[in-house]
Amino acid sequence: MNATLDQPKTITKPRPNKFAIAEPQKPKPRERLFSDRTYRIGSENAFRIGPQIRELELQGHKVIKCNLGEPDFPLAKHIADEIKRQIDLDLTHYCDPQGILPLREAIARIVSRTRKIDISPDRVVVFPGGKPPIGLTQQTYCNPGDEVIYPSPGFPIYESFTGYIGAKPVPLQLREETDFSFGGRELAPLISDRTRVIILNFPSNPTGGVATREQLEEIADVIYAKAPAQARIYSDEIYEDILFDGNHHHSIASVPGMEERTIIVGGVSKSFAWTGGRVGWAVFPTREEAAVFKNLNINYFSCISAYNQMGAAVALESPLSAVEIARMCDAFCERRNMTVAELNTIAGIRCRKPGGAFYLFPNIAGVCETLGAINAHKRMPAGDRERSSPSTLVQMFLLWRHQVATMDRRSFGSIGAAGQHYLRISIATALDDLKIGLERIRNAAHDIDGFQNFIQEGKHLC
Ligand code: PLP
Repeated sequence: MNATLDQPKTITKPRPNKFAIAEPQKPKPRERLFSDRTYRIGSENAFRIGPQIRELELQGHKVIKCNLGEPDFPLAKHIADEIKRQIDLDLTHYCDPQGILPLREAIARIVSRTRKIDISPDRVVVFPGGKPPIGLTQQTYCNPGDEVIYPSPGFPIYESFTGYIGAKPVPLQLREETDFSFGGRELAPLISDRTRVIILNFPSNPTGGVATREQLEEIADVIYAKAPAQARIYSDEIYEDILFDGNHHHSIASVPGMEERTIIVGGVSKSFAWTGGRVGWAVFPTREEAAVFKNLNINYFSCISAYNQMGAAVALESPLSAVEIARMCDAFCERRNMTVAELNTIAGIRCRKPGGAFYLFPNIAGVCETLGAINAHKRMPAGDRERSSPSTLVQMFLLWRHQVATMDRRSFGSIGAAGQHYLRISIATALDDLKIGLERIRNAAHDIDGFQNFIQEGKHLC
């Protein structure tokens, strides 16, 4: 017998060696392809339903497109001529990443004149549209956990980016009872020490709300009293020229004490019916802040095509532009009057008259009830239910069974939107088409059998 084997084993623990290098921890295998933040970004549904519309058109349907935020007018000749002229002059190369000086000077002149403040061109940065500065602003001023206040319903990109950058979304819920408007009283409780960006959007998408000077003064008072000094107001004024009933555009930057906290944002997409030009701009509180955004431009896209920027300078400064804008606003106003009046004759729909932009935001709670959309939504499987809503079901029913493209409430900020039954109807569609669309909505609003059949079929419910 091997005595040594019979001895009880003494287990000698290895002595901790403080000089030993720790075994490198194997990184956990990642299950998902993309970074976490990539799964948190939202989208703009107005673009996402494009393929569905095309599918219907390929089936031979004429879809009435009330989904788009794009004026249905051609680019004015004087602007188009300038772009062509600049291409012929070979302005087709890289240019100043901050924006070419003639355009920044034009923006500075116009913003200074209309807001009664003094802007220099080195505080202006040009972007490929009014959309990019939304995400870039949130990235630049917010650390994870910082808070972004934004209107809801509001332009979807405001909420979309909060998730992407890890900021806390703080939606300011706009109520129909107060005409989708708000003042200092509604804003005050949302402001905290971690507030870094406060987004305002007048005239507003999707409600068409226009701010009065007094309202902005009240909002400014609250921001001045409660918000940290580093918090920035992101004043999205891209619809500044689309106004009705003698309304005037007011900017919070004009209120004393606010210019130094406000980023004023504009662009050519709406005022000049030039969504394909991809020229937008922001005026920053300081030239140092503008320089940071110039560097972001260098990192992301180098610059914006110089010939379009020259076209934008002409668009802003030519007296011919005012005539075109007035013509466009008259057309929108006629469509608004007709569409609001008609919608209000449809059982289950209630629509207020917007003062600007080119959207209507009718309450369709009655239609949701009549068609059974609220119950149908409750019965959906959990995952689908979260990605849908009663107004989504009505939106999809209108599109697939009645061929009218609209947008649901969730498309304008989904946090806190449960129980709100609205559609956005864009009136950037010819009057005759709008009339056809309204007849289709009228028919759909009591097509209970069609709706039940649509739900049973179970396609396109979210
Ligand atoms: N801001 C708001 C409120 C909008 O509605 C839109 C477009 O619909 C944009 C910004 C972006 O416009 P652009 O086409 O200039 O990027």
